[in-house]
Amino acid sequence: MLAAILIFALASFPQAFSQEVGEIGGERSIEAESGHELQVHCSRERSRAAWKVIDEYLMPFVEQERYQIPSKCRLHPSNDLFRDQEQHKINYDFNQWQCGYCKKSFRAEKYLDQHFDNRHFDRLNVTDGKCLADLCGALHCDHVMDSRSVKKTRCNLAATAKNRHLCESLADRCFPLNLSPSAARLHELFLRQFCDAVTCSGKKKIFPKGGKKSVSVFYLAISILSLMLLPLFYLIVYLHQRYLLFS
Ligand SMILES: [Zn+2]
Repeated sequence: MLAAILIFALASFPQAFSQEVGEIGGERSIEAESGHELQVHCSRERSRAAWKVIDEYLMPFVEQERYQIPSKCRLHPSNDLFRDQEQHKINYDFNQWQCGYCKKSFRAEKYLDQHFDNRHFDRLNVTDGKCLADLCGALHCDHVMDSRSVKKTRCNLAATAKNRHLCESLADRCFPLNLSPSAARLHELFLRQFCDAVTCSGKKKIFPKGGKKSVSVFYLAISILSLMLLPLFYLIVYLHQRYLLFS
């Protein structure tokens, strides 16, 4: 009996006094890890990349068309397992992250991710088919991911054909052709923006219609150009007035 108690105490000791990694704060209370094993087979990193792709390369066009993505579409925010947790990330600085549920601070996003896995796993939307990372083959997630974590592999014909089918079925489901003119336009855009480049030939450009970034770069270039041309315009007007005055 005594031996059993001793073994139990020894086994629980490291857990009871483990502190959360990367946590910021002077007066940190030592808390036991919940010890819950996360039984979710969905990559948070790749899901985040998929969300980034949707947000940058699809949503600007969806908003432009004032289109409501149907909830049965896998690109709808409610179909992202990690959406609620990701929305509860507060980022003050590159090395200061805070948990929106319990206000704990962390030095890096990865520590906050670990904290979510340990403490707030109940906020995961665990239902079948809600893993955004599963759509990466169609959404070109590698394109927006840290290039160091992307392994270059030879193009797999069978996998590419499967991804192509996945991509086209997303277009059909999310933007049904017969729903409305805007849905039909977005259906076409989705095929060009995402599905055309799901090929082994590598000849098609990924996201040929551009996205949030290219739109903002375009406006920035126009703004800078206007600011440069404005003084020139006034100089011409001034010189013209002067010329009129003296002639
Ligand atoms: Zn928390």
